[in-house]
Amino acid sequence: MGVPELIAVSRKYGSTPGWVLGGGGNTSFKTAEDLYIKASGFSLATLDADGVVRMSREKLAEIWRAEYPSDPGAREKRALADLMAARQPGEEPKRPSVETLMHDAFPQAYVVHTHPTLVNGLTCALRGEQTCAEILPEAVWIPIVNPGYYLSRIIEEKLASFAEQNGTPAEIVIMQNHGLVVASDTLAGIDVLSERVVTAIKSATGAAPDTSPVAPDPAGETIRTLLEKRYASVTFGANSEMLRRIQSEQTFAEVAGSFSPDHIVYAGHAPLYVEFASDSSAGAIAVGLDAAVDEYTQKHGSSPKVIAVSGVGVFGCGATEKTARLALDLFQDAVEVAFYAASFGGVSFMPEEEVEFIRGWEVEAFRTQVSTQ
Ligand SMILES: [Zn+2]
Repeated sequence: MGVPELIAVSRKYGSTPGWVLGGGGNTSFKTAEDLYIKASGFSLATLDADGVVRMSREKLAEIWRAEYPSDPGAREKRALADLMAARQPGEEPKRPSVETLMHDAFPQAYVVHTHPTLVNGLTCALRGEQTCAEILPEAVWIPIVNPGYYLSRIIEEKLASFAEQNGTPAEIVIMQNHGLVVASDTLAGIDVLSERVVTAIKSATGAAPDTSPVAPDPAGETIRTLLEKRYASVTFGANSEMLRRIQSEQTFAEVAGSFSPDHIVYAGHAPLYVEFASDSSAGAIAVGLDAAVDEYTQKHGSSPKVIAVSGVGVFGCGATEKTARLALDLFQDAVEVAFYAASFGGVSFMPEEEVEFIRGWEVEAFRTQVSTQ
């Protein structure tokens, strides 16, 4: 039991398709004195000892006891400073995950937090909470709140009341518009819990989306060339479910908002939808595309990271190949989340004020910056 096992379980879930994307998710192992947590900016799939920060649980306990300002910005700033100060000597160059405190709230030795597509089909659905209570009655549902210190606090309260009511600690936490946490004293236990969650949701959704690739539309190359004049890197994707979703403004509405913090961080808070008449000339496409991107940029204060062109496919756009790829991957994830959410009453996006909180959050800005290096 220890850090090598923590690294093994991190790599396992980090590299299994459908569990996390980019630098998303985090894992921890704890003893009475120390909490070993994934550092911010590292990916679970390739985690090694350099990406693990050793935290003092005594200092984390002080954060639990501290009183913070009620203003969200001031509160998170103070809590983050205290979190940095809770690193053990010698750990200073590393930055602990912003979800560290949440890990500390679980009594179990191992905590694995991921953002699985299938689970988010449930957490981003209108009937998500109700369905969760039906198919996973032993899970604790966490409503959407500001991430960071405040989220940890809410989880700690919910875990305490679960333990009081049931006489045993909760092992599964499902976070609205965010993801999954499983906690166990053994790695075998982590696998059993993860499997239980996946099986329950799969049997409630039935079919999986058809993501088989489709033959590229010739307009795709024209559009990519145009976009490459604006962005350093452009990635293109097209598959059956994606094309079905970007067929019209109406079908696109189900992926037009923000599902989770990861979607905002990597794919932007709002993808751009564009459509052209099928007989459009290359010149007409160029004019229309330019106008759409300019209008978007003016409205949102930043250029789109995801551009969906009806009947053609989706372009992930960024300053590097990695950011362009991640934008496309997160949009594909959103398409699948929307597919699964249809089984649970349809999609439910993050509310505007939560989206703005994430967009302005210094911690997420750090993660975006690190993920693009
Ligand atoms: Zn998370």
